[in-house]
Amino acid sequence: MIYGFLFLVIVVIVLLGYQQLRKQPAQAFPQEWKPLLLKNVRFYESLSEENQAIFRKRMMLFLSEVRVEGVGLELTDLDKILIAASAVIPVFGFSEWHYNNLSGVLLYPNHFNKELEFHDEAQGKVIAGLVGTGRFENQMILSKKALYHGFSNKTDKHNTAVHEFVHLMDKTDGITDGIPERLLEHQYITPWLQLMHKEMEAINKDQSDIRNYGGTSETEFFAVASEYFFERPTLFKRKHPELYNMLAQCFQQQPKAS
Ligand SMILES: [Zn+2]
Repeated sequence: MIYGFLFLVIVVIVLLGYQQLRKQPAQAFPQEWKPLLLKNVRFYESLSEENQAIFRKRMMLFLSEVRVEGVGLELTDLDKILIAASAVIPVFGFSEWHYNNLSGVLLYPNHFNKELEFHDEAQGKVIAGLVGTGRFENQMILSKKALYHGFSNKTDKHNTAVHEFVHLMDKTDGITDGIPERLLEHQYITPWLQLMHKEMEAINKDQSDIRNYGGTSETEFFAVASEYFFERPTLFKRKHPELYNMLAQCFQQQPKAS
């Protein structure tokens, strides 16, 4: 009996030690990344100095927890910066956030098709980013072209990488359905559904400035409206005050225009 107990204790100690070994400590933010981040990420630029320091820390924490890999390309510093920034932007209002449903991000050079092909002869290369299922469960795949476009165009209310990370936040309750039960307090769920359906109808009647793709499903509406909320917060607040308040509740933050 006592030997059995001792054995169990040893197994637990070994397992804990192994976990500790696997956990990579977050590295310090590389100095040479600072100007790149400031120049390319408007959300970061709009933060106070104190919050910028927190943002940089959160980026490094993300990079220590999620493996970022290039497929058919060599990752550059800016690739890593933009991916980590996209991950931190939507969760910045939560001081403790870990993407437990994500283990890796694969960066492809360009858009890809359903078979995840991006080579010259491949047909139907229209996908800019996705959160994987099946064999690719816990993986995100992004097109480098779309990643850069999301940060270079400051007026189009569109950011593919932020969109995909919002899907992951939506998925924390188990399903990606446009209803983030873990983020929105219970009493907001019905008003959120009503607001969402009203605006989806407007999109589908061509009477909204929210991107058409948001009218295809509740899931996509949540991600598309969130892109707009983070990319053009002032405009979004003016045009969609109720939606703005709801998303501010949901994300626990009110992004500012820089
Ligand atoms: Zn989507």
